[in-house]
Amino acid sequence: MDHVKLHDKTFKPFIPYEKIISAIDGVADKINQDFRGCTDVPIILCVLNGSIVFTGELLKRLDFPCQLVSMKLTSYEGTYSTGKVRQVMGLTASVRDRRVIVVEDIVDTGNTIFDLCDILKGEGANEVRICTLLLKPEVYKKDVKLDYVGMEIPNAFIVGFGLDYDELGRNLKDIYVLDQ
Ligand code: 5GP
Repeated sequence: MDHVKLHDKTFKPFIPYEKIISAIDGVADKINQDFRGCTDVPIILCVLNGSIVFTGELLKRLDFPCQLVSMKLTSYEGTYSTGKVRQVMGLTASVRDRRVIVVEDIVDTGNTIFDLCDILKGEGANEVRICTLLLKPEVYKKDVKLDYVGMEIPNAFIVGFGLDYDELGRNLKDIYVLDQ
């Protein structure tokens, strides 16, 4: 793994692919333990675009009947959270009376999942669980329960494995951190 340059910034190697995959294995095991044998069809909600790579990896490890639904939210501009969550694309299917597992790439301040839980409850979901690949515990300040967390990371800006810097870097296999 080498440094990468995206737009005006340089990023250095941070989490190798193998470590990401073992975190996903762990999260998938926990979800399977909780949902295996269920009689409903829970919704796996991919929060576009950042979660797309994680959702793909997670989905193929789940061993109960589930439905993939997507929506697109945004709160970030460049490397800063604006604190305002916007729905860029609504839910691709109804969540009414369904159990929903939200799949997030990363939870930072928690604004996104806080607003998203409100949206999903408003749309009639009967249970909402949160699954995130990464969590920045130093910054997280909401009391929404995070049911499944892959890995905790320090408060730094990262890219790769679906995460972008102004739309670049999503295709990087490993995760990189901003080189100050
Ligand atoms: P929150 O609303 O929890 O502050 O931020 C959640 C969203 O902000 C994530 O879904 C992700 O899109 C973006 N985000 C938060 N931290 C990072 C980061 O370190 N790198 C990138 N690329 N996006 C981030």
